[in-house]
Amino acid sequence: LLITFEGGDGAGKTTHIRFLADHLRQHGREVVCVREPGATAVGERLREVVLDPALPELAPMTELFIYEAARAQLVHEVIAPALQRGAVVLCDRFSDSTVAYQGYGRGIALNLVRQANDLACQGVEPDRTVLMVTGAPASVGLHRATRRTGADRIEQAGEAFHERVAQGFDMLAAAHADRVRVVTSASRKSDTSRKIFAQLSDLFPW
Ligand code: C5P
Ligand code: MG
Repeated sequence: LLITFEGGDGAGKTTHIRFLADHLRQHGREVVCVREPGATAVGERLREVVLDPALPELAPMTELFIYEAARAQLVHEVIAPALQRGAVVLCDRFSDSTVAYQGYGRGIALNLVRQANDLACQGVEPDRTVLMVTGAPASVGLHRATRRTGADRIEQAGEAFHERVAQGFDMLAAAHADRVRVVTSASRKSDTSRKIFAQLSDLFPW
């Protein structure tokens, strides 16, 4: 099973992936957690490049290809073999992020983004996607995400960019309502966590 977590920056994806992984492992499942871009040696290097604030002039297509290159390696090296073994793969961002950020955010035609995603994914598709939203303007999440570590190159893009990204995620949720489940962060993490489990209960019937 491949479960992806999507949403704007600072929505709590990383925290809730950790909670879910612990929960599934307690029930005896093998769980593989990965983040995008990254999680492979070359992917982590590509991540440094694409997020480097010192490279502000990356063309949208360059950015698209870097994310897709990282994803192609991740699918080949980690995700496909793990799925083959029957592991549960939890992915912190996946192809929907590329539609939202490089498609809606950067303005690359959506059909081109989808073709690039297909090339990188080689038939691997998420079984379920948890779209985490805060219910607050994108700028609030951004502030949360950048407070500790400083803003990466993408987080430095303007507020309008991040609002377009949020709209992109909304459109994806509407277009794929069966796969993409929207979870609004509650003030207590345990409540958010419960909402996420509820959206996955048919996949883990215990
Ligand atoms: O989720 P995380 O903060 O690790 O993502 C790294 C950065 O890459 C974020 O700033 C995110 O907005 C950006 N990103 C992107 N396009 C993608 C995936 C992530 O711009 N397809
Ligand atoms: Mg971030």
